[in-house]
Order: sequence, then structure tokens, then C-alpha cells
Amino acid sequence: MSDCLFCKIIAGDIPSDKVYEDDDVYAFRDIHPKAPTHVLVIPKQHVATLSDCDDPALLGLLMNRVRTIADDVLNLAAGYRIVINVRAGGGQEVFHLHVHILGGKKLPF
Ligand code: 5GP
Repeated sequence: MSDCLFCKIIAGDIPSDKVYEDDDVYAFRDIHPKAPTHVLVIPKQHVATLSDCDDPALLGLLMNRVRTIADDVLNLAAGYRIVINVRAGGGQEVFHLHVHILGGKKLPF
């Protein structure tokens, strides 16, 4: 989508600190990190929000990439948290589906 911030990041029109990319997903460091490691994993296909995505294959692939990026790219062997904010009421500010990976310290509840 031409007016989507994260689509522009995928396209390289807006710079990002990329940590991983393949044909289906793109992962980059959050510009305002809430933990020592804070990475966003996004599908390259534009999906506005989790509730709009009735696609088990895409959601399964996204979660599998989250798992491997956290373990193999970010080396979060001690553990990490994933967060998906859904719609404005859930704290979503960017309307392109994304999974936050937070780690690098013992996280409070
Ligand atoms: P949300 O609140 O939608 O779940 O999370 C959006 C996240 O995107 C926020 O944590 C915010 O810091 C991050 N963000 C917003 N704009 C940019 C940007 O231009 N670059 C990067 N790397 N992160 C961004």
C-alpha cells in the first residue's frame, strides 16, 4: 500500500535497521526500543491488522519466522516476549500487521 509506513520500509523508501529478510517477511529494529532488543517482524504482504487476516498459512509462517529470528538471529536464548497490538484500542499505531519481539533483559510482567 503506497501510504503505509511499513510497506515503504520494506520497499527501502524509508531506511530501517534490518535484521532479517526473506521472500515473505521483513524484520527490523524498532525506532523507539522498549527493551535492549526490540524488533518488529512484518509480513511483506500488506495486512492492516491481525483481525483482518483470515489466512492461517500467513499467520503460521509469520509466527514460525518470529521463532527462528528470536533464536537464530537475535540469540534470545534466555527468553523473550512477543506482542501484537490490535487496532487503536489495543495500542496499534502502525496499520501494517507486526509482531514485536522484546528481549535482552528480564522483563517485568
Ligand atoms: P504499534 O503501536 O503499532 O504496535 O507499534 C508500532 C511500532 O513501530 C512502535 O513501537 C514504533 O516505535 C515503531 N515505529 C514507528 N515508526 C517507525 C519507523 O519509522 N521506523 C521504525 N524502525 N520503527 C517505527
